[in-house]
Amino acid sequence: MMTHSIEKARDDFPILSQQVKGKPLVYLDSAASAQKPACVIEHEKQFALTQYAAVHRGIHTLSANATTLVENVRKKASDFLGANSEDEIVFVKGTTEGINLIANVYSQRFLNDGDNIIITEMEHHANIVPWYMLAKQYGFNVRVLPLLQDGTLDLAQLPRLIDERTKLFSLTHQSNVLGTVNPIAQIIRDARQYAIDQGGELHILVDGAQSAMHQTINVSQLDCDFFVCSGHKLYGPTGIGLLYGKKAILDELPPWEGGGAMIKHVHINGDITYADAPWRFEAGTPNIMGMIGLGAALDYLSQLGMNNIAEYENSIMKYAQEQLQKVKSLTLYGNDSRQGVIAFNLGKHHAYDVGAFLDNYGIAIRTGHHCAMPIMDYYQVPAMCRASLGLYTNKNDIDALVNALLRVEMLLG
Ligand SMILES: *Cc1c(COP(=O)(O)O)cnc(C)c1O
Repeated sequence: MMTHSIEKARDDFPILSQQVKGKPLVYLDSAASAQKPACVIEHEKQFALTQYAAVHRGIHTLSANATTLVENVRKKASDFLGANSEDEIVFVKGTTEGINLIANVYSQRFLNDGDNIIITEMEHHANIVPWYMLAKQYGFNVRVLPLLQDGTLDLAQLPRLIDERTKLFSLTHQSNVLGTVNPIAQIIRDARQYAIDQGGELHILVDGAQSAMHQTINVSQLDCDFFVCSGHKLYGPTGIGLLYGKKAILDELPPWEGGGAMIKHVHINGDITYADAPWRFEAGTPNIMGMIGLGAALDYLSQLGMNNIAEYENSIMKYAQEQLQKVKSLTLYGNDSRQGVIAFNLGKHHAYDVGAFLDNYGIAIRTGHHCAMPIMDYYQVPAMCRASLGLYTNKNDIDALVNALLRVEMLLG
């Protein structure tokens, strides 16, 4: 692969050079799923054509080589997230499965009747629903850090929420609706300190599904206990994701799904010993193709440089925010330090009508509740439109969006 600038990177994504409804495709839905560069697709294809085999159990050459390749991806993922070692990386299906996995094993190990955990009002359903499901089962309470009108968290409320029975704080790094980037390092430091002041100890889970595609992540510096993200939001395949956990805490957690690959010994009388982390959490034949594709995506991102991507995308975001001011009846949600996504409504029009109108111009945005109904409730709207950026988004995309919105405004009032 050639090294090249972000400005040229759009050419790496063949899918973007097509027409939709007779217009050049304007893809502004990367927050739902990012497109894949040709090198990722090609890499998966070559692996399938010449190298595919089941991993971890085979003595034969293909299997041994495939095992080496996927374990290399674990190393790449560890470097990408700034983990201390590849033993801290668990392959999962995606952010949703990563959170469900931790929620289940963490509850089993650490949460008892009368304990509590904290989430926030800006979470994706993936970081809300699993906790309420388990709260019923284990008897812990779910506390909620509220949202403020400007799309930030009401951090002043945090000390009030933490007592000696607060065990875990599970929050998103970046809102998938508002684009708010939470000051996560500071929040983690403060939350831990409040817990210590109360005589407790707090673990932190960070939902990095959005942040990992837009900025450099360093879990060791953040000092979170868990961090989860999805391959398909990192320009890689669906069905594969990463769960980072500090080695010491992964070692303390029980397994989740049982099956092959997660055991040391199985005796038919039920005497079973489990493999060490991370393999303890990876029951069954994994998504081998997905791992290979994700590895190629991480290589691609490393080559472009996450800092370069962040800088480029921030300049596009700034441009978008300026240009959108031309659309007088537009309401933007959140504030101007948003990253990656812009949520809006146009006058009194339902988001679905606006989305359908834009589709006629070949413009793909997302409309609906964005798997974050509590945010819709907070702003008292049934739905929002969301335009989201990827490393391939350029000013032409933004101009097309703004012009189309101006047209909707003119035609529909
Ligand atoms: C997309 C997303 C999820 C869920 O990710 P999946 O890949 O669908 O499992 C969770 N949290 C946030 C913030 C997201 O953007």
